[in-house]
Amino acid sequence: MPAEIIDGIAIAAKVRARVAEDTAALKKRGVTPGLTAVLVGEDPASSVYVASKERACKEAGMNGRSIRLPASTTEEALLAVIDTLNNDPTVHGILVQMPVPKQISEQKVIRRIAQQKDVDGFHPFNVGKVFTGDVDGFAPCTPAGVQVMLAEAGVETSGKDAVIIGRSNIVGKPMAALLLQSGKTANCTVTLCHSKTRDLASHTRRADILIAAIGKPEMVTADMVKPGAVVIDVGINRVEDPSAPKGYRIVGDVHFESVREVASKISPVPGGVGRMTIAMLLANTVRAAQLTLEG
Ligand code: NAD
Repeated sequence: MPAEIIDGIAIAAKVRARVAEDTAALKKRGVTPGLTAVLVGEDPASSVYVASKERACKEAGMNGRSIRLPASTTEEALLAVIDTLNNDPTVHGILVQMPVPKQISEQKVIRRIAQQKDVDGFHPFNVGKVFTGDVDGFAPCTPAGVQVMLAEAGVETSGKDAVIIGRSNIVGKPMAALLLQSGKTANCTVTLCHSKTRDLASHTRRADILIAAIGKPEMVTADMVKPGAVVIDVGINRVEDPSAPKGYRIVGDVHFESVREVASKISPVPGGVGRMTIAMLLANTVRAAQLTLEG
């Protein structure tokens, strides 16, 4: 029987509805959650991401704003913008769209954002909190979204073997940290694989929960998956397809059609994890606003 689909669109809609409710409650208390995205340069994909984050904020009743700076912006000038936002009480969440132009240090930018406004969860303080299981921290949106998807899909995680492919700071490593903690939708035995892992399939075939965050189109094939495993596909890859209206289509890191025949549950691409990332960004921003009231 083909795997059950874990519907990221429906789960993200649920998260966003909850965010809208929390926003309405905060507004009654005189606080409108606000997210400001900063974009340096004119990268078309980044521009689309920033516009969709702004729109999603507005749909949830939040203040969504973007600051667009020229590609020639100096590091000093960008840090000054961050300082202004750090000091602005109407801004609860700040994100700087990555990548930034070469003259700017990504790490300096991440470290400059006030940790209580770091809704991307990239500041070393928040990274540390996520690794130590401190629930006060902001978890990066994509792995946090995967965790919510597992919970909403009713996946039992406790004691299960979770294998993650990809060790990036924004997906793989924090995903491992989240699933490793004690607590809800966690308690996994985690294996983190990467480009230097020997015999990748020997690890993935042991996975009760397999999470692919590689950036290689359809790399995970059915023979790499244990029958009955839950498979979450984080990958977003553009592949040429002359028959598609745009000349390309979007696929994940998992070969969906074959893996679907082996897995018990699977998230599709598109319509899976991608939808969760923005929803979790909104959720983190609302929480940042709530925390200002709690002092
Ligand atoms: P990245 O390029 O930073 O990391 C890729 C990881 O894959 C690396 O750690 C590398 O070691 C590993 N890897 C590469 N080749 C491998 C191989 N042959 N075997 C095993 N491991 C291998 O990528 P990232 O930022 O973590 O993103 C991963 C994918 O997820 C991309 O397709 C990206 O577009 C997508 N992504 C999606 C969302 C979302 O919202 N759905 C968010 C972030 C990233």
